[in-house]
Amino acid sequence: MIRIEHCKYSLKTVHPFGTAHGTRLETPAVMVRVHYMGEIGYGEASMPPYYPETQESVIDFIGNLGLANISSEIELNKVLKRVHSFTGNFAAKNAIDTALHDACAKAKKLSVQELLTTDISDLCKYSSFTIGLDDIDTMLEKCIEAKNFPCLKIKLNGISDIETISSIRKISDQELMVDANQSWSDVDIAIKKSHELKALGVTLIEQPFPTGLWDKTKALSLQSPIPIIADEDMQGIEDMNQVADSYDGINIKLMKCGGISRAELVLHRAKELNLKTMIGCMTESSCGISAACQLADQCDYLDLDGNLLLSNDPYQSTATEEGCVLVDPNSYGIGLIDTSDLWGK
Ligand code: MG
Repeated sequence: MIRIEHCKYSLKTVHPFGTAHGTRLETPAVMVRVHYMGEIGYGEASMPPYYPETQESVIDFIGNLGLANISSEIELNKVLKRVHSFTGNFAAKNAIDTALHDACAKAKKLSVQELLTTDISDLCKYSSFTIGLDDIDTMLEKCIEAKNFPCLKIKLNGISDIETISSIRKISDQELMVDANQSWSDVDIAIKKSHELKALGVTLIEQPFPTGLWDKTKALSLQSPIPIIADEDMQGIEDMNQVADSYDGINIKLMKCGGISRAELVLHRAKELNLKTMIGCMTESSCGISAACQLADQCDYLDLDGNLLLSNDPYQSTATEEGCVLVDPNSYGIGLIDTSDLWGK
């Protein structure tokens, strides 16, 4: 039988984490371990307040999966088929999907990256580091703290955006990306801003308008000199035709699409639709980040810094260091090091 353990956890950030959705210090999560194929696989469900899942709904989902009735030797695709036969519950599905991949890859003495693909580049790719919304002096201090990261993703809220980026540009020659988190409203102002941001060396704009404003977004994408990337508008594979018509690219998150196997389907479809791909994250521990790193070689941009913003990461990852994502060929599964006391060792 496949056995699942779970425990509630509250992820705490080093700094208050500000976006156009609000500011928070803690994010509820459920940590998971799956006993499968003679190995222990790790997974995580993280629930920012603007998504519908809760710790209780994740634990209910795990209880209702019925994996305890399935042999621990049954092949991965068959177990995943059962997990993804349920609707919704994407963070919960991600936790189980990731943990099953982790255990299966460990059983085969492979990284999850190797389990998924045979053609692996050994390029070192860089992740952006997120600077949350705050007063400008605090944002500048955070940029200076993050000087070793080659790329910063700056959160904006539609107010003083150009002044904010101009101030940061004066102290930084790093690559800059911006994430408006749905805070822009006027198309003409947005088009003008896109040109001003390009002149300041910004390389992409994420989720400028509120979700569902496809015509406005398309008008901006057609006239912006830098790519417009969907985040909140891109939840799963069913959104992709509409997204491809209005955006230049997508931000894929395992927590949104339901895990490694679903993210692979999204990446495949994105290539067919000629969309640029970023793999991003929520507030997540090294567990979620290590899992996303296994897909890094298939993406154009990486935004995998969630664990670095935490003050109480229970785990360590072998896959990230100073923004550099390197899947260690000597570590199996997702490459997670369990230094936690979560499991009563
Ligand atoms: Mg975003």
